[in-house]
Amino acid sequence: MPARVPTVVDPAVLRLLTAWWMPLAAFVWGTLWGSFANVVIWRVPRGQSVVRPGSRCGACGQPIRWFDNLPVISYLMLRGRCRACDAPISLRYMVVELAAGMLSFALYRAMVVVPLLEGGGIEGVAAWQLWFVFCLALIVVTYTDLDLWVIPDAVVLPVAALGLVVAAVEPELAGVSWREAAGAAATGYAIVATIRWVYLRWRGIEAMGLGDGKLLLMIGAFCGFPGLLWALGAGATQSLLIAVPMLMFGRGVANSDLQAVHGDDPLLGEEDPDAGIAGKRIPFGPFLALAALEFVLLRPQLERLFEWFVQG
Ligand SMILES: [Zn+2]
Repeated sequence: MPARVPTVVDPAVLRLLTAWWMPLAAFVWGTLWGSFANVVIWRVPRGQSVVRPGSRCGACGQPIRWFDNLPVISYLMLRGRCRACDAPISLRYMVVELAAGMLSFALYRAMVVVPLLEGGGIEGVAAWQLWFVFCLALIVVTYTDLDLWVIPDAVVLPVAALGLVVAAVEPELAGVSWREAAGAAATGYAIVATIRWVYLRWRGIEAMGLGDGKLLLMIGAFCGFPGLLWALGAGATQSLLIAVPMLMFGRGVANSDLQAVHGDDPLLGEEDPDAGIAGKRIPFGPFLALAALEFVLLRPQLERLFEWFVQG
């Protein structure tokens, strides 16, 4: 890649972008998109529009007014209950908003503030937004997969395409060349498709859904081969460390919910109560997503690890 000519940033712009309150503004910006992510998580797997109608209480159907729909704040003001019917609102809504806010905050500091203070240009603003979109998609698929065993194409495919286009047009922003992005995306999908095919022949069930493959396609498109490898390795390790205790003490997904989305899809496989933990279904998507988030936040360190690993 050609060395970038140092850009001179207008001092007023520099002062604004590195002002102490800007990361907080980035946090608020993130919570607003987290609020949108909540809508996507609920509606997209159910085939509903994310635009219309406006938000309603899940219990009484009363439209939620704007001042009761502010990220984080409204949940706290209402103490987690609907203003009209007092039905409890899932804590999840606030968790997703906070997570999105914190990711936006962390990415803003790492991609805008630090490079600017080190004499970089304002392209960090574009990088911040690009990687925030990627992280937001990871949050969405985490919860749709936990709730309903769905990783929506409508989320991962457009975001994967965005990653590939940026890698082709602005490889420095993407952090990977388009060749690597495309190669890692295809490899990620192929790995899952192969595992799935083997299991289908062997046991007649889906060990991994193609949704996991499309998620890895998106991760490869953004993070290249180091990210793909990290997502698979750390994702699998963490799923063992976290999911096994969760299965022992936690609850599964209600079968009625699954049926509403999947119908009587025999490929989903039945849980086998006799097989103990080995007979339970574990969604893998949240663990892939978690590992990908780690990669985004610890990218320089993990890429050094990857180089050391490859070169021996
Ligand atoms: Zn209500």
